[in-house]
Amino acid sequence: MLKGKVAIVTGSTSGIGLGIARELAKAGADLVLNGFGEASEIEAIRSAIEREHGVRVVYDGADMSKGDAVRGLIAATIAKFGRLDILVNNAGIQFTAPVDEFPAAKWDAILAINLSAAFHGIAAAVPQMKKQRWGRIVNIASAHGLVASTHKAAYVAAKHGMVGLTKVVGLETAGTGVTCNAVCPGWVRTPLVEKQISDIAAQRGISQKQAAEELLSEKQPSLDFASPEQLGGTVAFLCSVAAEQITGTAISVDGGWTAR
Ligand code: NAD
Repeated sequence: MLKGKVAIVTGSTSGIGLGIARELAKAGADLVLNGFGEASEIEAIRSAIEREHGVRVVYDGADMSKGDAVRGLIAATIAKFGRLDILVNNAGIQFTAPVDEFPAAKWDAILAINLSAAFHGIAAAVPQMKKQRWGRIVNIASAHGLVASTHKAAYVAAKHGMVGLTKVVGLETAGTGVTCNAVCPGWVRTPLVEKQISDIAAQRGISQKQAAEELLSEKQPSLDFASPEQLGGTVAFLCSVAAEQITGTAISVDGGWTAR
């Protein structure tokens, strides 16, 4: 389905991004992996995807907190592959504290990585996609792009911003062969959420299993985590012919979180 297409997935050395990268490779896309981690682990991930799916996979360690580096990632990909078809803005971080105690540096970092990186990436990618008359931009927002929770001022602000940015880019690219959509996951058991489970377990003196159940029962009516593979499948769908007329919207994969 995506043979000959080139995809960038930011923050794809772990969690949801890695799940998305694997699903796009399974569908035949060549890939640019991005994110932090041990060089040897990243190389193992890169070569395994290449081997398993017979696609070309390169790694670029661009820091998504820096606008110039984000734009450099797009330019380097176009220089290397001669095209860019799919941009998945996925890299993200979390920090929790009441708004009056929220460290300004954490606010700046979350806004930079979870929101501004998508702006810089999209701004740099859209001209190439328009030239090709085909492009798919997928912004990984969150249930927190649609509703709020306490202690997540920066994250909720950034994710709501991501949904707004998605609408604007969907309108600006309508009719050009380029689409832009947001995907809004509920809880997915990745390192980002594992830390929140550990924090609950420590605060309440309960086990990891109990803390995970508590996290789910508070927000996610299905009482089950969504998986990185399912998120990858959603992104692959948005890149399919069936999704050609889907643009400027937000698709929830949240077990019912935002239905109530
Ligand atoms: P994760 O911590 O497993 O992965 C985050 C990825 O981003 C890693 O590859 C990391 O190296 C990369 N990254 C972090 N800072 C970076 C930077 N400055 N430059 C480049 N890469 C950087 O987290 P995850 O849960 O897979 O989260 C992925 C995305 O999904 C995030 O945007 C997150 O907000 C969103 N999300 C996650 C959940 C969830 O329940 N896990 C729910 C909704 C939305």
